[in-house]
Amino acid sequence: MNSVKTGEIVGGHGRWMAIAIEEAEQAGLESEVPVGAVIAGSDGELLARAHNSVIRLSDPTAHAEILALRIAGKKIGNYRLLNTTLYVTLEPCIMCMGAILHARVSRIVFGARDLKWGGAGTLYDFAGDARLNHHPEIFGGVLENSCKTLLQDFFSVKRKSVALNHGSCHKQASDLLK
Ligand SMILES: [Zn+2]
Repeated sequence: MNSVKTGEIVGGHGRWMAIAIEEAEQAGLESEVPVGAVIAGSDGELLARAHNSVIRLSDPTAHAEILALRIAGKKIGNYRLLNTTLYVTLEPCIMCMGAILHARVSRIVFGARDLKWGGAGTLYDFAGDARLNHHPEIFGGVLENSCKTLLQDFFSVKRKSVALNHGSCHKQASDLLK
């Protein structure tokens, strides 16, 4: 369908994704949508780990990938992150894919697909677009179930709490009518 390779892959990617999942869990604890990212260097060193922090930072660009790109750039003293691999629990959105291409990240490994915003093959396939001058390798579906379950659990709890709040509003309203 596009440039995305799918399924579990060999080479220790699961180990890195597990760290990204830890970051995603931390985001969830902070009531942020649970998405985590890790950037690894070519020698297998951890350059950055970060989680979604849009609410905490009041910053619509504070997705896990963007924060990780910033940390890694500072760490290596270069805005180009050549020969790096970015691991992220949810497929990068269109904004993050733009930043990832600017940074020249070599490889993207993601867990769950993003049906609403996915820019790494699901909605848009920036990595496979011949008009752009950088084409990172993309692997999707690594530890997909764990990544997806985190998101599903987060949204199901959120939906329940919204329903409960509505319930209490209705109750207050009916109390007023007595
Ligand atoms: Zn994003």
